[in-house]
Amino acid sequence: MIARTHDLAAITALSIVFLAAPVQNITLSTAILAIIANLFGGITPDIDQPTAPFWRNLPVGKYFGRIFDHMLGGHRFLTHSILGVAIIGYLAYLLLSFLHPIMHSVNIDIVWWSFMIGILSHLVIDSFNKEGVPWLLPIPIKFGFPPVKAWRIATDTWAENWFVFPGLLIFDAVLYFQNYRLILHFLHGLIA
Ligand SMILES: [Zn+2]
Repeated sequence: MIARTHDLAAITALSIVFLAAPVQNITLSTAILAIIANLFGGITPDIDQPTAPFWRNLPVGKYFGRIFDHMLGGHRFLTHSILGVAIIGYLAYLLLSFLHPIMHSVNIDIVWWSFMIGILSHLVIDSFNKEGVPWLLPIPIKFGFPPVKAWRIATDTWAENWFVFPGLLIFDAVLYFQNYRLILHFLHGLIA
């Protein structure tokens, strides 16, 4: 899937988790960082793709993208598995713990969870792709949904752009509409 779809999926997943278990007493800086971390997590597994938006946004991205591509075993490999997610999650937590002293008002647990929810949403959404996802590496089997490959979606095709993306948008609209009181209450608490 393309980055736009992954970012929307990440925000959708974060919204579902948030509405199922709303957090109380969260600071504005935590909320902003959590959303940034979530969007970033949504595209992080594609660091194994030299042409990924993740790299395109960096000045020397093309060069680093190639190195990472080889190190991580090519596209949809280590970073698209539970093992890879655990490693990235561990490194992300180390980084956040390191940065915490300079951002006291930020709840790093919430930021970390938002990042992880973004990453997991990436793997789930990529499972609808024709190629599938090697969830259980080092077991080299790629899983996809539906199990029949022909019924799955190819990246950046009409099915993604006119079915998956708008589908997620409609889902979010319904979700926010149904929970608007809770969301309003949360936003009010943020700026109060
Ligand atoms: Zn991917």
